Amino acid sequence: MCGIVGYVGKREAYPILIKGLHRLEYRGYDSAGIALVNGAGRLNVYKCKGKVAALEHFVESKDLEGSIGIAHTRWATHGEPNDANAHPHYSESENIALIHNGIIENYRVLKDALTEHGYTFRSNTDSEVLVNLIEYVRATNGCTLLEAVQQALKQVIGAYAIAIIEKGCRDRIIAARKSSPMVVGIGEGEYFLGSDAASIVEYTNDFVYVNDGEVAIIDRNLPLKIVTLDNRESRIDIKQLELSISQLEKGGYPHFMLKEIYEQPKTIVDCIRGRVNPDDFDVRLSGVIDNRERFLRARRIIFVACGTSWHASLIGEHLIENICRIPVEVEYASEFRYRNPIIHPDDIVIAVSQSGETADTLAAVELARKAGAFVFGICNVVG
Ligand code: GLU
Repeated sequence: MCGIVGYVGKREAYPILIKGLHRLEYRGYDSAGIALVNGAGRLNVYKCKGKVAALEHFVESKDLEGSIGIAHTRWATHGEPNDANAHPHYSESENIALIHNGIIENYRVLKDALTEHGYTFRSNTDSEVLVNLIEYVRATNGCTLLEAVQQALKQVIGAYAIAIIEKGCRDRIIAARKSSPMVVGIGEGEYFLGSDAASIVEYTNDFVYVNDGEVAIIDRNLPLKIVTLDNRESRIDIKQLELSISQLEKGGYPHFMLKEIYEQPKTIVDCIRGRVNPDDFDVRLSGVIDNRERFLRARRIIFVACGTSWHASLIGEHLIENICRIPVEVEYASEFRYRNPIIHPDDIVIAVSQSGETADTLAAVELARKAGAFVFGICNVVG
C-alpha cells in the first residue's frame, strides 16, 4: 500500500500535494499522479510511471490551478507499473477521479458485471473498477456521490483507502477506508488528507483518524463530517500529534535506510528509556504489567507478522519460550488470515508491524479479535 494526499482550502493545492507526495517517497512506489479541480470546475488528471520528480516534469506546462486536489503514489498490485495504471483513475465519463491504496479482492466479478453494462477500462487495475462502480451506482440509483460511494463500498471485498473528487465540485473530497490507514488534518478554513500523518504534519497538529468502514466528507465550507456506510454519523475525535519535520526528513543521509542504520544506537536507547532501569535491574513494560494476569493465564502466544517483523518475532519466540515457558507460534500473517486458524480465547495474539498498516497483519488481528483472543500490538507509529 502506498500513499495518499489530499487538500481543499484557500491555498493552491498543487504545491501542497507534491510536497506531501515527496514526504511519502520513503515508502517506495512505482508511479505517481494528481487530480485537481480548477476554478472553472474542470477536472484535470495527470499521472505517470516513475518518481514524483518525473510527475513534476510531466506537468510543467499543464493547468495546475485549483484549491482542491488529490494525489497518489502507487505500489502496483494489479497491472504493471505504467502510465495508464497510475492513479488517479477517471470514471468512464471522466466526471469522477479516484485514488486508491489497497486491494479490491472481488474486482474481477465487479469488472465483468460493469463490462456487461457497457463500461470499458483504460487500465488493468482493481482501482478503476471501483470508480466505475461508483459512477454506475450513481447513474442507476440517481443518488448523490456520497450515497453512491457508500453503496458501492458495500459491494467491495478487500482493503482500501480512497479519495474522490468530482468535476464541477470545487469544495468537496470524499474519502473512505477499510484496513488501509487514513487521516484528516484540520487547518483554518482548510483540510488535509493523508494515508500517513507524515505527509501533512507540517500544516497542522490537529488530526482525525478515519476508522474502518467510515466515509469522510471533507468540504471546505462545512465542519468535517464522518459517516458509516449505513450513514450513521460518527463522533469527530480530534487528536493532537506533534512530529518534527526533522523526524520526517533524511537528515543529510542519501537514503532513509542509511539514516535508520546510523540511528540504531539512539533508537534503542529511546525505546528502552523509562522501561529498563539499569541501577536497580528493573524492567517495567507497562503494556505487559497492566495485563499480567492475562499473560500468566495464556495457553499460547501467537505472533502474527510479515517480512522483517516476522523475523523479529522469531527472536521473540526464543526469548518468551526460554524465559516464560509459554508455548509460542510465529505465523506469517498472510497465511494465517486465509487459513481458518485455530484461535482460543485464552491465546494471546501479538501483531508486529513497523508501520501498523500491514494489511495482512491487520486482517489477522481482526480474526484473532473475533475469536476472543487477547490482542497486543508492537508498532512503531504513535496514534
Ligand atoms: N491495487 C491498486 C493498484 O494496483 C493500488 C495499489 C496501491 O496501494 O498503491 O493500482
